[in-house]
Amino acid sequence: MKKKKKRKLKSSVKVFLILVVVLCIAFNIGKTKYEEYLYKKTSDYAILQLGYSEEDLKLMNEKLSDSDKWHIANDIGNNEFIMNFIKCDYFLSKNIDSYLSLTVTKDEDFWHYKKPDYYNYDELVAKVNVKVNNEYYTETKETDMSKGYGILVNKYHYLPENYAPEDLVNIDWKYRFGGKNDTIKVREEVYNQFLKMWQGANEAGFYLMAYSGYRSIDHQKRIYNDYANKNGISYADSIAARPGFSEHSTGLALDIYSKTCSQANLFKDTEVYKWLLNNSYKYGFILRYPEGKSKLTGYNFESWHYRYVGEELAEKVYNSGLTYDEYYAFYLDN
Ligand SMILES: [Zn+2]
Repeated sequence: MKKKKKRKLKSSVKVFLILVVVLCIAFNIGKTKYEEYLYKKTSDYAILQLGYSEEDLKLMNEKLSDSDKWHIANDIGNNEFIMNFIKCDYFLSKNIDSYLSLTVTKDEDFWHYKKPDYYNYDELVAKVNVKVNNEYYTETKETDMSKGYGILVNKYHYLPENYAPEDLVNIDWKYRFGGKNDTIKVREEVYNQFLKMWQGANEAGFYLMAYSGYRSIDHQKRIYNDYANKNGISYADSIAARPGFSEHSTGLALDIYSKTCSQANLFKDTEVYKWLLNNSYKYGFILRYPEGKSKLTGYNFESWHYRYVGEELAEKVYNSGLTYDEYYAFYLDN
């Protein structure tokens, strides 16, 4: 009697255990299926389904948001150029469509893909970031004045209408060209920093001289209209900024030469220029239109044009090796 009961108990335990195991397996299969179901709803899955590699996906995850990845999955698809752009140091996900638009060209009625090895992708990324893929003075917008000394003024960013800085000061005759009654003005902090830079240059054996500073938007309008009336708009655009688009209207730009050289075509070969090129950032100034970068800045190389952005920012820009347009687009324009 006792034995029978024991056996019965034993077999019901067995049944119970088997049931548990079966349930566990069923649960795990269900769980895996469910996880698979969820995974198939992710952008990661959609990207891999398009034929991108695991390595591509890894890089996308470093540089793109989930919605960017959905944009690729839903709107762009498998694009043979896209990874070349994403790999670039200064890739900005918000510009992804603009980068890709540079890889197609319209020939009569057909859109063609250009050959991928034709491109320097870093250069294309830089161009789109600073907007020069658009014609000058198109897609323009009022610059973000909250950036303070770091405001960007170029052929796509203009100053607010009637902007005039309130803290302009005169540069002492000793440090500028022109007669005693002429004036060259810049904002107060710019002048103070210029004086420090003047001292630094002087210790290195140079004598800096300011040539041009603040120009009101009205003044710029007169200069620009004068050229435009005489020689047409494209000539005017090649030689002067449009009103509101000139850095000289910020009160933060200074054209600087030396006492011994004030010629635009010669200044770039002087030792003073070399000193400015490598030291001006210590005082908060950057060379605004560097050599070989006119396609990005929209201006020919100007060895004399310095822009005050503040010491901290100037050092960062100098160390980045970027033009201010590129630096601003990547680090400051948010
Ligand atoms: Zn200038």
